Amino acid sequence: MQNPLLDAEKKEQAFEQNVRPASIGEFIGQRKVIRNLSVFIQAAQKRGEALDHVILSGPPGLGKTTLAHIIANEMGVQIKPTTGPVLEKPGDLAGMLTNLEEGDVIFIDEIHRLNAVVEEYLYSAMEDYKLDIVIDSGPNARSVQIDLNRFTLVGATTRKGLLTAPLRARFGIDMRLDYYDVELLQHIALRTAKIMDFGITDKGAFEIARRSRGTPRIVNKLLRRTRDFAMVDDLDTITDEIADKALNALDVDQNGFDEMDIRILKAIIENYSGGPVGLGTLGVAVGEDKGTIEEVYEPYLIKEGFIQRTPKGRIATRKAFEYLGVNPEETDPGLFG
Ligand code: ADP
Repeated sequence: MQNPLLDAEKKEQAFEQNVRPASIGEFIGQRKVIRNLSVFIQAAQKRGEALDHVILSGPPGLGKTTLAHIIANEMGVQIKPTTGPVLEKPGDLAGMLTNLEEGDVIFIDEIHRLNAVVEEYLYSAMEDYKLDIVIDSGPNARSVQIDLNRFTLVGATTRKGLLTAPLRARFGIDMRLDYYDVELLQHIALRTAKIMDFGITDKGAFEIARRSRGTPRIVNKLLRRTRDFAMVDDLDTITDEIADKALNALDVDQNGFDEMDIRILKAIIENYSGGPVGLGTLGVAVGEDKGTIEEVYEPYLIKEGFIQRTPKGRIATRKAFEYLGVNPEETDPGLFG
């Protein structure tokens, strides 16, 4: 019997593979990162060496995984993807590293979640392409050294601050991805719609782009959902009207905020008079993990000027009060002095 969940997952993977830019030329935006990266790739190729280890950081959905694949494609090597939490034991890491061919890329997503023991093994692997493995235990325990092929480690993290200093120091290339401008996201929406072979107007793409929190992954998600709304209405083209209808139905507001963004703003303003409020307290108030608030929600709210991070905690700005239609003076006289 078919498993609908597995089917959905397969569909998702197929979609990802189709829309994911495969080369530097197809990657939209992040111009500085791309420019530097192509220099490093060309130089490594001229020297006939593996590319130096790369750390990619930034909020989720901005293209870190995509870039890791592009690096491997451009270098003409294989990529072996894994994630920090999956590498539980040094043996898991050894298994992956010893399977790499000369120049291959090992991609470790969520590298900040690597366990400390595995991380220690990574140091000599990254630096000298050697792995010291202890075999047997007790009095018979002995260490053997395995020579590895030269490889490139590409690590991705949403929280670079959590990386230990020794690990961070071992990456020769350090790149941070930032939120995308609306015009770039519009471009991405047009490109994805073309790949999906579904019509879209410039205005339709703009409407989706503008409400996608600066994030390509969200553009692609909202585009697919909007297509569903268009199809049900027997339309073969996504216009700004149908995009607006779909996004409203999906509770994505005019700023691109979803329910959780609004809950966070409301909690700071209504429960804590605009703040400051600590992240842990805020997490409890809105029923969300504080790490997720810090990695996923807060960066965009800060970038858009709705909240500020202060040493005492998070505070809501005047813009946030206006957005919720609350008068700051009524909540906490003198807040804005
Ligand atoms: P991350 O690893 O940072 O969470 P991904 O690389 O998985 O993000 O990207 C999320 C989605 O956004 C993918 O479907 C990818 O195709 C798309 N995407 C990301 N960056 C770009 C870009 N610059 N141009 C076009 N599509 C992009």
